[in-house]
Amino acid sequence: MTYGVIICTKCREHVQIIEVGSSKTTRCQRCNASLNTRKLRVFFTSDELEETISVRTQIQAQLSGTGTLGKSLDALAEEYFRKHQTFGNEIDEKAACLIDNRKIPKKKKADELIIGILVENNNQMNQNDLKEKALKMDVSEEQFNDIIKKLLMAGELYSPSKDIIRIV
Ligand SMILES: [Zn+2]
Repeated sequence: MTYGVIICTKCREHVQIIEVGSSKTTRCQRCNASLNTRKLRVFFTSDELEETISVRTQIQAQLSGTGTLGKSLDALAEEYFRKHQTFGNEIDEKAACLIDNRKIPKKKKADELIIGILVENNNQMNQNDLKEKALKMDVSEEQFNDIIKKLLMAGELYSPSKDIIRIV
C-alpha cells in the first residue's frame, strides 16, 4: 500500500492521507468536499504509514502557520518542495519530491534506458559499468542481460573487445 499526502482543493485548509490508487474519490474530513484523487497534487508518497503521518503533520502545521491566502496550491507545493529537506534524514530526497499525478511521465523502456546511458557515455562503455548504471535505474539484472543479448544479436550494439559494449 502506498500512502499519499494531499491538500483539500476546496477548503485548502486540510491536509490528509489517501491510499494512492485505491479509490477515485476521497472526502475532505474538514469541509466534506468530494475530491477526485486523480486530480489532486500529491505532496508526498511513502509505503510507510508512520512516515506519511509525520510528513502530513508537518505540512498541516506549515499550512496552518502560513495559510494559503492568496497563494495557489502550486505555489504552496513549491514552497513545500524547497523546505522538504527539513523533514530530516530518514526521508530520502527523491521520495519527498513532489509528484504531480496529473502528468506522470511514462516509464522509459529498459532497452531505451540502456541505449540512453550509452549515448551519454560517448556510445561506448564497459559492460559492468553499463550494468551498474542500468540497475540503478530499476532495470533488473536478468532484464539487462536479456536486452544486451538481444541488441547484440539485432546488430544495434556490438562488442569491439571483451566487456566493451558500443552502439553501432
Ligand atoms: Zn476541505
